Amino acid sequence: MKKCISILLSVLMICGILTPAASAVTAEKCDCGFSPVIYVGALGCSDIVRDPGTEDEQILWKIDTNYLLSCIKPQLGTLAKAAATMNADLLADALVAFVDDCFGDLALDNDGNSLPNVYTPYLNVPTGDTHGPDSDYYFDYDFRLDPYEHAARLQEFIDQVEELTGHDKVQLKASSMGGVVLSAYLDEYGYDEIETIITQCCPLLGTAVAGELFTGRFELNATALRRYAQDALPYMDGGDFLRAVLYSLTDMLRIAGVWEMLIGFGDIIVAQVLDRIYAEALIPIFGTLPGIWAFVPEEYYEEALVFMGLNEETGELYEKVAHYREAMANITENLQTVKADGVKTYVFCGYNVQRTPLVTAWKNTSDGTVDTKYASVGATTALYGEELSEEYIASLADTSYLSPDKMIDASTCALPDSTWFLRDWLHCNGNDAIGALYRILLTSDEQLSVFDMEEYPQYLQNDDARPSLTPVTGAPDAFENFKNNPSLLNFTLIFSALIDLIIEKIKTVFATGV
Ligand SMILES: [Zn+2]
Repeated sequence: MKKCISILLSVLMICGILTPAASAVTAEKCDCGFSPVIYVGALGCSDIVRDPGTEDEQILWKIDTNYLLSCIKPQLGTLAKAAATMNADLLADALVAFVDDCFGDLALDNDGNSLPNVYTPYLNVPTGDTHGPDSDYYFDYDFRLDPYEHAARLQEFIDQVEELTGHDKVQLKASSMGGVVLSAYLDEYGYDEIETIITQCCPLLGTAVAGELFTGRFELNATALRRYAQDALPYMDGGDFLRAVLYSLTDMLRIAGVWEMLIGFGDIIVAQVLDRIYAEALIPIFGTLPGIWAFVPEEYYEEALVFMGLNEETGELYEKVAHYREAMANITENLQTVKADGVKTYVFCGYNVQRTPLVTAWKNTSDGTVDTKYASVGATTALYGEELSEEYIASLADTSYLSPDKMIDASTCALPDSTWFLRDWLHCNGNDAIGALYRILLTSDEQLSVFDMEEYPQYLQNDDARPSLTPVTGAPDAFENFKNNPSLLNFTLIFSALIDLIIEKIKTVFATGV
């Protein structure tokens, strides 16, 4: 009798399995215990191509160096004349023509749509069912367009990945602009199919460089330029010796005042040429891209609309730009809600890297591209290289979120318990040490916090060269770094720190009149 029942049950079960299988193409449920990861790419994750498939096919973005050179070529005569006569107008003529020639076809129309012959012909479609901690699906998109268009495609992409792998949830890892897509997605589609969210260096509340360029705050600053080069240099190709020479050279120039003089000269030209570049090249091209508008922090937005001349009369483009403000306005609450409802949610951001030196906000601490306060969704940060004021620190009721180097207070950000800050981490620069931490978070069944793992507290020193993540214990110390890792590069950093000391000393002497 028992046997009969079990046979009967088996038959029923088989029918139960077979019946839906006959009507749907869904893969069998996967019981591997690891929901597939979808990596939401950064700006430029997919090539934007003009006339794809024809003999005139040209990649407009990412930037193709040969094409860039071919666009500058027709302007060489004008540029030479401008240099010979020190004529700013001629220089502007050449630069505007060059920018328009090179990037003009990226512009969208008043409805926020691209030229029909300019698009991303090679977008990824998920294939195969391979998934696991070392294998993810890559979601890419045309960065110019309305982030909500990407969100709609991401929803399809998620459904396809679930179908391929037999899982009913996915883990999302968003990198840089991927956070913009994620923000729009959460706002529009919610989180029913999301098991984990990791954001990496994402401009979730924007980035100051976009806000400042869209409001005309342009500034070349000698110190910022030098530090930017210095912070970015370790990541550039080439031997340590070359870096050492470059460091030394930029520092010597700084001492000699030549650097400041060069910048001063640049400032005059910039001021003369800037208005025309804005009006004739920058605004007509980049001001039409909702994707770039999504980088503008809220505090710049209204002013940027006026400066860039975008308003209700601009048509659907304005609607698309305005729509994303909702995603940005809601991101704090959306992240808090998803986490409270059991979605593992983690925010990663870098700090103590010199940000883009072209804007007045060059003092914001950042990962070089996105300001730490925006990527962390609201942390309180000291200016680059500085500490939070003693008054601020004294006012804190709870100092458990204060960084040991006193540069950051995470208590004010959206998810203080699951936001990690990596010192000296250049924007989205991946390495094995960071990968190892992501792996722990992705494979864990439960939400982990910055207090759960002794080796991974909230503030971590990133060292790409080793690579390693070690707990931050105090202020950055070039001498300490050299002791731990006696490379030529770290030696030049000592040299640089020494020069900072000398300059400070000289300034004090002059200030006190001694
Ligand atoms: Zn599986």
